[in-house]
Amino acid sequence: MRGFLAVAPIWLLAFVLLSTPIGLLSLPAHAQSGDASASGARLAGDRERTRFIADLSKKVDVHVFPLGNPYRVIVDAADVSFQMPSGLGKERRGLVSAYRYGLFAPGKSRIVIDINNPFFIDRYFVIEARDDQPARLVIDLVPTNEATFLAKLREAKQKRVENGPASQPQPPARVSYAKPIIVIDPGHGGVDPGTSSVSGVTEKEIVLKFAERLKQKLAATGRYEIHLTREDDTFLPLKERAAFAQKRGAGLFLSIHADYFPVEIDGDARGATIYTLSEKASDAEAKALAAKENFSDVIAGIELPSDSDEVVANILIDLAQRETQNRSLVFARSLVGELANKNTLHTKQLRSAGFRVLKAPDVPSVLLELGFLSNPDDEKQLTSEAWRDRMTDSVAAAIDGYFAKRIARMPL
Ligand SMILES: [Zn+2]
Repeated sequence: MRGFLAVAPIWLLAFVLLSTPIGLLSLPAHAQSGDASASGARLAGDRERTRFIADLSKKVDVHVFPLGNPYRVIVDAADVSFQMPSGLGKERRGLVSAYRYGLFAPGKSRIVIDINNPFFIDRYFVIEARDDQPARLVIDLVPTNEATFLAKLREAKQKRVENGPASQPQPPARVSYAKPIIVIDPGHGGVDPGTSSVSGVTEKEIVLKFAERLKQKLAATGRYEIHLTREDDTFLPLKERAAFAQKRGAGLFLSIHADYFPVEIDGDARGATIYTLSEKASDAEAKALAAKENFSDVIAGIELPSDSDEVVANILIDLAQRETQNRSLVFARSLVGELANKNTLHTKQLRSAGFRVLKAPDVPSVLLELGFLSNPDDEKQLTSEAWRDRMTDSVAAAIDGYFAKRIARMPL
């Protein structure tokens, strides 16, 4: 025993001395193709889609994968030297709370990006230097829920096991495309029928049928993951509808309703109207409508928070919501554009008011009133399969346009 203790340190020293140069010599060949450098990095986008961009002196192979607990993105590349301006990496934007970089192991460089939410690496790619632009590494991150994050994490781990150790950089790849998550919210339901026509057609049945058809259409494109807040004739409180979209990391929330004007106000009113959330109502009609739609919880016997009077009058929007508000407006305008083309609008004006169902702070949210159950012609349309088909086509086109532009507009 004593003999071993006396010998062990010498043996250990010999091992360290011998193993270090051997370790260096046995580096994989591609590590020597090194001499690339990273000269800058920046973030773009928002919580809905955050883009990390790093400037490189030349195209390199990278391996990008997620880590959990805490949420991180790891970028490994062979032998990239970092010549970044100081102070870089403290920027917070969208899903990213910070990033750092440096040598991880001999010949292996690493960037670690801290993420503040369950996320999904939507795609990543390295583009060649062109004209006066450097080569760039681009990583797109989108939010998701915890369950999806963990599933993707397991998938990525499995891939790393199959492809050998993480030190083997993978060819630049387009990772599987994360589909934008869309939540369609058929208003009312169950104990709350919403408004109804003279003949007894209820808003809750009209909007559910519409939502189902829209889901079908969007699903058929293969481009989206779609959820309905309710799949049948059950009631759901307004707050839970917004929370439903948040929980799923939705990129868009669309609440579907139908309106009713008593004859003495405007019995001829027809067509669709599009609403977004605002602190102060855009006009008296919008204000009255928000009060009516917000009344859903009362009808169902839900106890409202004590500030509910204030909620109906105007909703305070905090700073964090401004960005979401802008996105909501972009989509709402796209929807107005599509529907105006088809001549199906009550008004081309975009209206806004304090709709409680649109209050998810990080999900762009829009409310669509399909038409007026008080108008017999509108009622005929609202209950017609042909109209539903045309109308869902237009809404789907607006959704396509919105998401396509979102990605195309991001800087590289
Ligand atoms: Zn309604």
